[in-house]
Amino acid sequence: MKTNATNADTSKPHAVTFAHMSDTLDAVTMSDSSDAATASGTPRAFASSEAADLKKTASAPSSLAHCTLCPHACALHDGQHGRCHARVARGGNVVSENYGRITSLALDPIEKKPLARYFPGSTVLSVGSYGCNLSCPFCQNARIACASELDVPWREMTPTELMNKALDLAQYDCIGIAYTYNEPLVGFEFVRDCAQLAHECGLKNVLVSNGFINAEPLQKLAPFIDAANIDLKGFSSHFYHLVGGEIAPVQRTIEFLAQTATCHVEITTLVVPGMNDDLQHIDQLAAWIAHLNPEIPLHLSRFFPQHHMAKAQPTPRATMLAAQEVASAHLHTVLLGNM
Ligand code: SF4
Repeated sequence: MKTNATNADTSKPHAVTFAHMSDTLDAVTMSDSSDAATASGTPRAFASSEAADLKKTASAPSSLAHCTLCPHACALHDGQHGRCHARVARGGNVVSENYGRITSLALDPIEKKPLARYFPGSTVLSVGSYGCNLSCPFCQNARIACASELDVPWREMTPTELMNKALDLAQYDCIGIAYTYNEPLVGFEFVRDCAQLAHECGLKNVLVSNGFINAEPLQKLAPFIDAANIDLKGFSSHFYHLVGGEIAPVQRTIEFLAQTATCHVEITTLVVPGMNDDLQHIDQLAAWIAHLNPEIPLHLSRFFPQHHMAKAQPTPRATMLAAQEVASAHLHTVLLGNM
């Protein structure tokens, strides 16, 4: 185990940072994780050469390495990091620098992801690293999402170690792993390796993501994702410009997962006063989800002052209730969070 900094934020409402990690797991783990695997659920060992191969995501003959993971399409000089802070150019390839680097680990109720209609009452071992490919001024988890390797404490875990932890927590109704807290898909290779191993162990995979990923890696990962909560942060190109992304790739991600029979999908929108709380905006967002499937649950989450909007006011409760009413005209399940 190693750490690289000590400025953990322990005040985040949803992330248990490294400083809390051992406390969280010690409280619920009855035996050492290395002894936890059962005959039916023993993970296979993960070969180091295999892991090294999987860190490569793209190569280019020029002096620039091109990342093909998300629509930002970063072209990087050797040693340069991408916009997500989690990937770096090394020897002509863009590799996942945050592979296996864990900043947050906690056993959460599945409803906290949030997933309202997937194994209610169960728990899920929630894991996060650092980095994100969007730059929301209202980020509710900025200390890890906006961090690079030097900004936040982390420890290394292999996929096998993570599976052993999850298996050890079965007595607490732990159904599997949730990839969450920061943007998990900027660490695509770790999520993929863990997700494959989880299925071999009979565990479920839950993805909590901003959905800003290219189609090809999404299609590779989707067969291993059993449930996903995807952020739909707003419903205009203008709003997605404010958060450093584009809406079309996120819509494509939601559409693809909604059409994937093996994946349960729910959606979250953080309602930020003065930014995306216009009721016409909410109406259009909910109508678009309904055209995919009116059974998809929508979580409207209340904004609290954070990050670059630390001096803003929380979203008024009346705004949340009005948004719920508008969205409920299209969708069967509209839930309010952080109320
Ligand atoms: S995943 Fe990171 S490095 Fe790759 S294109 Fe997106 S922001 Fe750039």
